[in-house]
Amino acid sequence: MSRPKRLHLYIDGKAQKAISGKSFANFNPATGAKLSEVDQAGRRDVEKTVQAARRGFQEWSAVTGIERGRILKKAADILRERRMDLAEIEVKDTGKPIAEAPEADIDSGADAFEFFGGLAADIKGTHHDLGEDAFAYTRREPLGICAGIGAWNYPLQIACWKTAPALAAGNSMIFKPSEQTPTNAGKLAEILTEAGLPKGVFNVLHGSGETGHYIAIHPDIDKVSFTGSVPTGRKVLADAAGSVKHVTMELGGKSPLIVFDDSQINNAVSAAMNANFYTQGEICSNGTRVYVHEDIHDAFVSILKSRTEAMVIGDPMDPATHVGSLINADHFEKVMEYVRLGIEEGAHLVSGGEKVSVTGCEKGSFISPAIFTSCQDDMRICREEIYGPVMSIMSFRDEDEVIARANDTEFGLAAGVFTQDLSRAHRVVAKLRAGTCWINNYNLTPVGVPFGGYKQSGIGRENAAVALDHFTQLKSVYVELGDVECGY
Ligand code: NAD
Repeated sequence: MSRPKRLHLYIDGKAQKAISGKSFANFNPATGAKLSEVDQAGRRDVEKTVQAARRGFQEWSAVTGIERGRILKKAADILRERRMDLAEIEVKDTGKPIAEAPEADIDSGADAFEFFGGLAADIKGTHHDLGEDAFAYTRREPLGICAGIGAWNYPLQIACWKTAPALAAGNSMIFKPSEQTPTNAGKLAEILTEAGLPKGVFNVLHGSGETGHYIAIHPDIDKVSFTGSVPTGRKVLADAAGSVKHVTMELGGKSPLIVFDDSQINNAVSAAMNANFYTQGEICSNGTRVYVHEDIHDAFVSILKSRTEAMVIGDPMDPATHVGSLINADHFEKVMEYVRLGIEEGAHLVSGGEKVSVTGCEKGSFISPAIFTSCQDDMRICREEIYGPVMSIMSFRDEDEVIARANDTEFGLAAGVFTQDLSRAHRVVAKLRAGTCWINNYNLTPVGVPFGGYKQSGIGRENAAVALDHFTQLKSVYVELGDVECGY
C-alpha cells in the first residue's frame, strides 16, 4: 500500500477532487516531512456528498441485517490483513509509537467492525400485548445520514467506532477526519468499498473546522457523532441544534486515578504510567490527576520516577520507542507552557518536562514525560486538560475526602481506583461521577464495554451494543384487531 501524494475526498464509492479547489498540507509530526496535499471540502462538496449519502442510505437501509453484517465483517478481515501498513500510516500521521498502533488503533478498529457486524442481524424492536383486541410493536429504524467528526489522536479507531455501528444499523455515513491526520479515513473508505459496501454509504470529507461546521449545520444530515475537545463540542452542539440533530459527543477529560494505601504498588505505578504517557499523553480518558494515599506517596513517586526515566523517547517508527512526537509544534508549545505554569503555581517537577532532540527526527515535538508532585486541586495543571505527558500527583488521607476531590471537576470521562479491598473498590467507583471507570487497571477499552463521558465529557456511548441505540430511532406501532370505539 503506497502513500498517496494527493488525498482526494471519497464520495459515492470513489475518490473525487474537491469542487472547492482548495487544499492543505499534511505533515509527519516526527520528521516534518510533507506526507500529502489534501483536498479540502467546501460547502458545495458537502452538498454533493449529502446527496450521494442520501442515495446510499436508500439502498443500504433496504439490505438485510445479515448481509450488512457480512460486509462489515469482511471489512474487519481486510483491516486485519493490512494491519501493519495501516499502523505505519497512523504513526506517520500522528507521531505515536509503532509499538502501540497495530493493537491500539488498527485491531481496535477491526474489532468494532467485527462486533457490530455480528449485531447487525439482531437489531430489533419489542412486542406489547394489549389484550385480545390490540397489540403494539416497535421498530428500530436507522436515522438516515450520520456524520462523524474525528480527533487526531486515534484517527482510524475513531472512524471505525463511529462508522461500524452507524452502518450496522443501516445508516449512511459522512466522515470528516481531523485535518492533522487525514490519511486512514480514505483507506477505510477503500476497504469498505472492497468489502462490498454500496457506493454513497461511506464518504470522507477532508477539511478543518470550517468543513465540520458545514456538516454540523446541514439540515439533511440526521446525526452528528463528534470526538474532540469540549469547546469544539459546544460549537457542534449549537450547530446541530439548528436542525435538532441527534448527537453523540465524545469530549475531553481530566480524570482522576486514586491509589489507596493497600494497592499493589508496582501495578499502580504501571497504570499511572499507562494513564499518562501512552500515546505521549494524547488520550482523552487519561488519569492525569493521580491521588496517592499519603502513607505510600513517597514509595510510589520513587518507583514511578525511576521507571519513567527509563522510558525510551525516540523515532516513532522504531519498535523500541515508548514516547513519540506530539502532534505539532503549537501543541508542543501548549504542553510546555503548562509545565512552566505548574512550576510557577508551586508544584514540584520531579522528572521530565523537557524538550528532547531525537536523531533523525530533529523537526519533531518530543517531550520527556513530566511528573509533578505537591500539586493542589485548584492549580490549573490539575484542572485543565493538557493533553500531553504531564502527570499531577496529589496526596490524600481519607476515602470521602478523595472522592469529593476526584469529583470536583466539570469533566467526567473516566476514573480509576487501585485497592485490594473489594468492598472499597466498588463503593468508591459507585460514587465517582465518570462514564468509564477501572478498578486495578487503567485505559483499557475492550469492544463490548460502553465508553463515554458524564458531565461535560460527553453525551452517548460508543464501542458497545448500546451505541446502536444512538444510531437508530424507535417507531411505535399500535395495531387494532377489533372495532374502533368512538363516543360520537
Ligand atoms: P478539536 O476539538 O480541536 O477537533 C476535533 C475535530 O473537530 C476536528 O476534526 C476538527 O477539524 C473539527 N472541528 C473544529 N472546529 C469545528 C467546528 N466549528 N465545527 C465542526 N467541527 C470542527 O479536538 P482535537 O484537538 O482534534 O482532539 C483533542 C481533543 O479530543 C481532546 O480534548 C480530547 O480529550 C478529545 N478526545 C475525546 C475522545 C473521547 O472519546 N471522549 C477521544 C479522543 C479525543
